[in-house]
Amino acid sequence: MGFFLPSAELMKLYRTSAKDGTIIDHDINCGNNTVNTNKMRPYILAESNWNYIKDMKFDMAILPWGATEAHNYHLPYASDNIEAEMAAAEAARKAWDKGAKVIVLPTVPFGVNTGQSDIYLDINLNPSTQILILQDVVEVLNRQGIYKLMIFNSHGGNDFKQMIRELGLKFPKMFICSTNWFTALNRSDYFDNSGDHAEEMETSVLLHLKPELVLPKEKWGDGKTKKFKVKALNESWLWAERKWSSVSKDTGIGNPELASKEKGERFLNDITDKIGDAIYELCKADIDDLYE
Ligand SMILES: [Zn+2]
Repeated sequence: MGFFLPSAELMKLYRTSAKDGTIIDHDINCGNNTVNTNKMRPYILAESNWNYIKDMKFDMAILPWGATEAHNYHLPYASDNIEAEMAAAEAARKAWDKGAKVIVLPTVPFGVNTGQSDIYLDINLNPSTQILILQDVVEVLNRQGIYKLMIFNSHGGNDFKQMIRELGLKFPKMFICSTNWFTALNRSDYFDNSGDHAEEMETSVLLHLKPELVLPKEKWGDGKTKKFKVKALNESWLWAERKWSSVSKDTGIGNPELASKEKGERFLNDITDKIGDAIYELCKADIDDLYE
């Protein structure tokens, strides 16, 4: 679909928007006097073009990180990637609108699934591989003067703390932080049932973000979970990895039955407000003067 406008006027509109970093709504293709509406979001690298990027300077990058794994019977294998990508984008949009120069990198689609080795097509990325990927991304940012990085993690098996410590030594100019974004608010304020995989919270979020990829409710498993026989392993002070297929029949952990699109929308909206504020604050922060 297109409409006719003089090309010079459009080029001016495009360049003016690009220079001051505000949102670019239009890309121009005047070869046949038509305008292609371009929905590029200026804080999403995957949608950006060199025409725009070459003049930009960003203060912080966000690296969404997910996993590819079964999510009960009813949610897609890319659930964590969809959540990471869409929640990061929304939080970044809110920060961008306030004036933060932030860029969201493409989502890393594989995570640590060492405990799910017998679940068909759960794709494991070892932690030792993860740090190499992370290091390569950090090296680019460090070389190009983007000294702030937020890892936006959506998968419980991923744990970046030790990697951040190690990379911090190698790249002393970098400020690297990570969030399990879904923990930024108290989940019991939004959801009735607890759990940590394909449960009420995650099902609600997917019902909001990608309802077309969620099976109808009659197909949902109950996410019933076995506990360790050794009592202390069920307490937070003693940890061992769970063998997923021995713990849950449907691969879910936590009952999704009370999930709803409305709960997911309210949670996502509030949590991206909070994370967006943090992104804005980090973008403006002086990393040589972080303490008071
Ligand atoms: Zn998940």
